[in-house]
Amino acid sequence: MKIVVIGSGVAGITFAEQYRKLSAEDSITLLTQETEGYYSRPMLSRGFSKADIEETIVMKSFASLREKQIDIKSGLEVCGIDCAEQVLKVVDKDGQTKFVEYDKLILATGSAAFIPPPLLPFQENFYLFNSLRDLIQLRRLRAQISVEQSPHWAVIGGGLIGCELASDLAEAGDQVTLYHAMDRLMERQLQETDSVKLFNVFTQAGVSVRFNQNVSAIVKEPGGVGVASGDERLSYHGVIVSCGFKPRTQLAEMANLKVNRGILVNQRLQTDHDNIFALGDVAELPNGKLYAFIAPILNQARWLANQFFDSSLEDWNPPSFLPRAKVHGFEAEHDTLF
Ligand SMILES: Cc1cc2nc3c(=O)[nH]c(=O)nc-3n(C[C@H](O)[C@H](O)[C@H](O)COP(=O)(O)OP(=O)(O)OC[C@H]3O[C@@H](n4cnc5c(N)ncnc54)[C@H](O)[C@@H]3O)c2cc1C
Repeated sequence: MKIVVIGSGVAGITFAEQYRKLSAEDSITLLTQETEGYYSRPMLSRGFSKADIEETIVMKSFASLREKQIDIKSGLEVCGIDCAEQVLKVVDKDGQTKFVEYDKLILATGSAAFIPPPLLPFQENFYLFNSLRDLIQLRRLRAQISVEQSPHWAVIGGGLIGCELASDLAEAGDQVTLYHAMDRLMERQLQETDSVKLFNVFTQAGVSVRFNQNVSAIVKEPGGVGVASGDERLSYHGVIVSCGFKPRTQLAEMANLKVNRGILVNQRLQTDHDNIFALGDVAELPNGKLYAFIAPILNQARWLANQFFDSSLEDWNPPSFLPRAKVHGFEAEHDTLF
């Protein structure tokens, strides 16, 4: 049996490791764009305050996973799925096209940063904060700016990740201005009193929060970047857009799999093709939810591997879990909503 996994995030790696525990014989190939190894995405939120983050964030090297007979092919992009022939089209790091056959395909392609449509024309003028590659780029920029002055950042987005990012930059000693479209922070996750508590923590940490902002342009200026919102335009050393996530569904769409916000799966994490499965940030369950947190994804990945060997397993259902905002000096008093 040829098992092929696309994606080396927590979903893809956990599935592959669990499957290997259960079968020594089946071949497991894992295809990924990444080159740095299997890293912790939650730890990105400590990417500025922890000096040695670029080394400590990598939890497992690809070499160590290959020793477990997981055939990781890294630095490549899967460009197409031929569901009828059960073949993937892959472009490797040298631009060569290759074909990879599968018996069972696991889509663990995760999510990219969501860019609000009005900001799309300004993509060259801002950074995103979604992957280790993004963090490395930002840390380089920060090191360059820091030679002469303390960096001043604009973070666009006062949701979970935007708040964690703003908090960590401030913890590292930078000036931060946080733009939020709504009138309170993390309104999707926090009760109102906790939003106020978070705002007070930010005020104490020196983070300037601007509510009810409609950012309309992000433009290059001599020595920095300008953020236009309403009638005002303010200047920063760098701008980071952090406005949520977008499941990477393109491959599934091109292959005519059913897709809504995520790739549609049933309670057995199966797409509308019998031998193609999806899990992690990219999978949308019949209740319309995407379980884009580590605890349910670990659970999904292990369950999916197990059910290949025990078809009597009950359907996948999410474990109970409580998301938590990793903002320095902040603990919510009420459960964080999901
Ligand atoms: C800054 C930040 C902080 C977070 N903090 C927390 C937290 O504290 N707690 C928590 O529970 N969750 C947290 N999350 C969310 C959590 O990290 C994600 O839900 C989880 O990492 C998703 O894992 P995944 O494997 O589904 O996807 P991903 O980690 O996105 O991995 C997808 C993989 O697929 C690869 N890929 C995609 N398309 C292709 C292709 N066509 N060809 C080849 N490879 C491809 C990518 O390169 C990547 O390796 C955080 C997320 C971020 C960004």
